[in-house]
Amino acid sequence: MDYQLLADLLFPSVTKTREELEKEYPARSLPEGAKVTRFAPSPTGFVHFGGLFPATVGERLAHQSGGVFYLRIEDTDAKREVPGAAEGLVKTLANYGVNFDEGMTLEGEKGAYGPYKQSLRRDIYHVYAKELVVKGLAYPCFSSEEDLEALKQVNKKEELKNTDWTEAEAQRKAEQDRARAITLEEVKEHLSKGEPFVLRLLSGGDKDKKVRFTDLIKGNLEFPENDEDFVLLKSDGIPTYHFAHAVDDHLMGTTHVIRGEEWLPSLAKHVQLFTFLGFKLPKYMHIAQIMRLDENGNKKKLSKRDMGANLDDYSRMGYCAESVCEYVMTLLNSNYEEWHAKNPELPYTDFPFSIKKMSVSGCLFDFDKLNDVSKNVLSRMTAEHVYDLTLAWAKENDPDFAELLASDAVYATSILSIGRGGKKPRKDFARLSEVKDYMGFFYDELFEIKDALPEQFSKEDVKACITDFTKNYDESLDNTGWFDSVKGVAERQGFCPDVKAYKQSPESYKGHVGDVSSFIRLAITGKLNSPDLYTVMQILGKERSLARLDAFTQSL
Ligand code: GLU
Repeated sequence: MDYQLLADLLFPSVTKTREELEKEYPARSLPEGAKVTRFAPSPTGFVHFGGLFPATVGERLAHQSGGVFYLRIEDTDAKREVPGAAEGLVKTLANYGVNFDEGMTLEGEKGAYGPYKQSLRRDIYHVYAKELVVKGLAYPCFSSEEDLEALKQVNKKEELKNTDWTEAEAQRKAEQDRARAITLEEVKEHLSKGEPFVLRLLSGGDKDKKVRFTDLIKGNLEFPENDEDFVLLKSDGIPTYHFAHAVDDHLMGTTHVIRGEEWLPSLAKHVQLFTFLGFKLPKYMHIAQIMRLDENGNKKKLSKRDMGANLDDYSRMGYCAESVCEYVMTLLNSNYEEWHAKNPELPYTDFPFSIKKMSVSGCLFDFDKLNDVSKNVLSRMTAEHVYDLTLAWAKENDPDFAELLASDAVYATSILSIGRGGKKPRKDFARLSEVKDYMGFFYDELFEIKDALPEQFSKEDVKACITDFTKNYDESLDNTGWFDSVKGVAERQGFCPDVKAYKQSPESYKGHVGDVSSFIRLAITGKLNSPDLYTVMQILGKERSLARLDAFTQSL
């Protein structure tokens, strides 16, 4: 077979040589040890929470080492493309601290190693495709895409179980041999009829031979050599993932390929392809899939339909990006939490991210853990920061509350300041969507009595306590003075002013000072749990506090 002739027939318009092409993609000049990583999603308009893992790892490894992190849009499957998805993705990821140096960025397209969108790289792939044909390492196959699809479908079906694999394998080999045996004449004939072809790699591999491979996360692996003439170019001339991966990561100078472990079974193909193309194999890191527990406590893949799968859900649910990022770090690196406990004030970007500490077998997604992390994150923020985040969230999701918050920023911030700072800050909410419930009672528009009085107290006693408290209320008292005044009420109304003493002889009292506080609390906040009541009353002011106490007694 005259391979050069075949190549010219298949790719008549490719005139550029590989050498010429590669001059346009010189080796990057970066400091020693700098890593070049990429995030390479398909633009489906849906950013999976799981995508944040390779994206964060890629970003950390590149930026921690003074390298480059770029975005490549893998839009070779045109059927799945959603317009504007790439821009949306860049914005969403930026919100989670993942910023790209090249490819699509917040400031538009950047970088000298593009185009960064695979659909614009067709001619580039064809240069290498042609070269493989010239070397006798790839050949055209004129079966229609429908035929191939039908073949695939058959394999997937129920019969799969009953398939005699030795026979199926023999059949595959026979098909492969037949396809390989195509002659120049036949090619010419197909082409003259305008028939499309797919380009296949002429594998030549032997399944009985083992390939040894080291994945930076999974460790040492061994798998059979690829012996399948897999497709490099589809019938529309667009590359498959495998071919595009090899060409792009080679030209763009990727040092570390970070991707989901679902690509592990394709590794044999990739190793072979890089060898055939004479490309240096990058380092690989296959990230374990994110799992969740189902109703029966079994581990399941976090699938697209699951709650928490769509990254955009998190902001809607009221999780701030800081919390999600920190949660992702705890899942990614087993020593993150320990580091964070020692350095609570430092941002996660200061954490020395280590490949060695990555989970090999899969991280478990868990809302409880996320909530814990998020409560901590929010508790460490300043009141102003929480105010800004809550306002931004409410503008999108609860405009009425946003209006209330915006009507008096100083007031809202003073509320959010309660119990903040110090060694043990309050941890009242994990999500910004919970802030309204937490502080809503400070707004007359939202105030309502939500909890019920504990049943053991008579309405008369409660009324008497509140009336006594109101009569003697002095706004100028400090916290201790305020509490003394509540003790005074307790004493006068037959409640024990000291909880310990009460516990020794509960039958001698109607209740204790804590109960008296809870009557006042319920009247003022509508709830039996609230932040420090003294401070609440200070912020509400005397007039509104007394009005609420009064309204409450009247309602009894
Ligand atoms: N487009 C591939 C995916 O979304 C990228 C895998 C890779 O990073 O190479 O799974």
